[in-house]
Amino acid sequence: MIRRIAVLTSGGDAPGMNAALRAVVRTGIERGWEVFGVNHGYTGLIADDMAPLSRRDVGGIMGHGGTILGSARCPEFRTEEGRRKALAVLARRDIQALVVIGGNGSQGGAAAFSQMGFPVIGVASTIDNDLVGSDITIGVDTALNVVLEAVDRLKVTASSHQRAFLIEVMGRECGYLALMAGIAGGAEAIAVPEVETDPQEIADSIRVAYERGKPHAIIVVAEGARYNAAGLAAYFQAHAELGFDLRVTILGHVQRGGAPSAFDRLLATRLGAAAVERLAAGEHGVLIGWIKSEIAVTPLSQVVGRRKPLDVDLLQLAHILEK
Ligand code: ADP
Repeated sequence: MIRRIAVLTSGGDAPGMNAALRAVVRTGIERGWEVFGVNHGYTGLIADDMAPLSRRDVGGIMGHGGTILGSARCPEFRTEEGRRKALAVLARRDIQALVVIGGNGSQGGAAAFSQMGFPVIGVASTIDNDLVGSDITIGVDTALNVVLEAVDRLKVTASSHQRAFLIEVMGRECGYLALMAGIAGGAEAIAVPEVETDPQEIADSIRVAYERGKPHAIIVVAEGARYNAAGLAAYFQAHAELGFDLRVTILGHVQRGGAPSAFDRLLATRLGAAAVERLAAGEHGVLIGWIKSEIAVTPLSQVVGRRKPLDVDLLQLAHILEK
C-alpha cells in the first residue's frame, strides 16, 4: 500500500516539468498520499534534500519553464553505492515509490534504481525527443516553437541584407529539433548528427540558392552534427564561395527557458496524472509516454540504452522542400 511517494526532476530541464510535478502532487494528494518533492534530482535524493508538497506549493507554476525542484546531473547515482544511499533515505522516510520526470539519462537512472527493487515510474520529459516509448516528450513543443521564432526572425534580417545564416540548435546526439525547425522554418539546408552531411553539398546548394536570386539562406544545424556551426563556417571559409555574406547564430540555452506551450502543459498534466494512476494500480518499472495521442506505458528496460530514431522520410522531404 502506498502512503507516501517522492517526485524529482532530473537531467536537462524541459518546459512543462512544473506542470507534470503539479499533476503528480495534486493527483497523489487526491488519493490520500503524501507527496515529497526532491530538490536537484538524484543529488537531492542521496542527500535527503526533500520536503512534503501541498496543493498550494505547486500553485502558479504551470506557466513557468524549468523546474521549481531544480535539476542536476549526479555522477554518484550511477554507482550502486550511491543508489544504496538513496534507498536508505527513502526507507527512513517511509516512502514507497518514486516518480522520475526526465529524459534518457534520468530514465536510465530510474531503471537502475528499479532493478534494485524500489518501485519507480518515469515520466517522459526532454527537449531532445529521443525517448523510446513516447512519440513526443514534455518540452519538445515549446523548445521547437522557441527555435522557430528565432529562425523566422533571422530570416527577416537575412533577407534585408542578402545573408546566409548558420543557426545552431540543441541536440548533441539527436537531430529532432534541427530537422523539425528546419522544415517548419523553410531552411535551405539541415544538418543532424544521425546522418552524415557533406559540407560541400550544403555549400553548393546555398550557392545555387544565391544564383537563383534567393534573398536569404538559412542553414539549421544540430550542435552534435559532425559539422556543427563552427565546423561548417570554417569549411565554407576555406573551401567554398557561397555568394551570400555568412553569419553564425548559436541559440544555446534560450531554447530551454520558454514558457511551456498549451500542448506541453496538457501533455505534462496527463502524463503526471497517469504516473500516479499507474502507481496506484500497482505498476512500476515503466515509463509513462504518449504514443498515437494516448498514454503509453513501456517497461523501463525497453527504454534504456536506446534512442528513438529520427524519421528519415522527413529528412528526405526536407531535402526536396529546401531546393
Ligand atoms: P537527461 O535525463 O536529460 O538525459 P542525463 O543524461 O544527464 O540527463 O542524466 C541525468 C542523471 O541521471 C545523471 O546525472 C545520473 O545521475 C542519472 N543517470 C544517467 N544514466 C544512469 C545510469 N545508467 N545509472 C544510474 N543513473 C544514471
